[in-house]
Amino acid sequence: MNRFIGRTALVTGAASGIGREVAISFAREGATVVGADTDSDGLCGLCEQIGNRVWARVLDVSSESDWISAIRETETRHGRLDVLVNCAGAEAADGLQDPEHLLLEGWRRVQSVNVEGVALGCKHAIGLMSRNRSGAIINIASVAACVSTPTLAAYGASKAAVIHLTRSVAAHCARAGYGIRCNSVVPGVVVTPMIERYWSRLEREQHLSAAEARQRFLSRIPLGGFQEATDIAAAVLFLASADARQITGVALPVDGGFLLHDR
Ligand code: NAD
Repeated sequence: MNRFIGRTALVTGAASGIGREVAISFAREGATVVGADTDSDGLCGLCEQIGNRVWARVLDVSSESDWISAIRETETRHGRLDVLVNCAGAEAADGLQDPEHLLLEGWRRVQSVNVEGVALGCKHAIGLMSRNRSGAIINIASVAACVSTPTLAAYGASKAAVIHLTRSVAAHCARAGYGIRCNSVVPGVVVTPMIERYWSRLEREQHLSAAEARQRFLSRIPLGGFQEATDIAAAVLFLASADARQITGVALPVDGGFLLHDR
């Protein structure tokens, strides 16, 4: 229960959903948490929940200057960075987008948060972590990276890029002898504001009832039931812990068997 005493963990997307649960879990296990997000109200809620174990930092992951100052401030305040969890994510805001009808602006927004945000986080965390010759980076991908996503083309492509980027970061850091491991976690379906927005769009644009939209996903999960944010957090903390010290470059599904389906 105290795997991260004396450690500092920076979690993006910490204001909501999975990122919030990851931040709470690290704090519960003794870490000092830098909770980063664009949503300052959500960050205030996180601070109320875990108090002085968290330092809330407004950060737009797609901005390199934001990353430079957040990492610099992390070093000044805490002296070190042991764990980075790139959890902030976005889906296209302008409705379901198939490859034929996608809007370039929406495509770019998704790639800038989900891919550039992760790349920038890794880039700037490596510099600080490598000074201690240790560190763990966990990037949050999605099962959407591994199956076709005809109504979420930009999102699926962005998450496939996250899995590939994770392997490149892992190989680079290993070759350089930095002692930094990099892995991705591949969640299935977790009921959070993001998935609720997606279901609402399915209901509206494909004329499904709320129950039908949920059942479409539920029917693809062999173990039955959606995943909880705590399931994803448990996998993240494992990959960040000493128990995973020989694990780097993997994509770990936490999906109730979603990816067992041959499609
Ligand atoms: P969520 O909407 O509850 O949380 C996402 C958070 O990211 C929000 O707090 C939002 O403010 C923040 N964010 C968005 N853009 C940002 C930016 N530019 N800079 C900083 N913060 C930003 O969603 P969630 O379901 O908790 O998603 C967390 C991660 O898990 C995402 O990467 C998502 O793609 C991934 N994921 C979710 C599911 C699921 O079923 N919920 C499945 C697979 C993968």
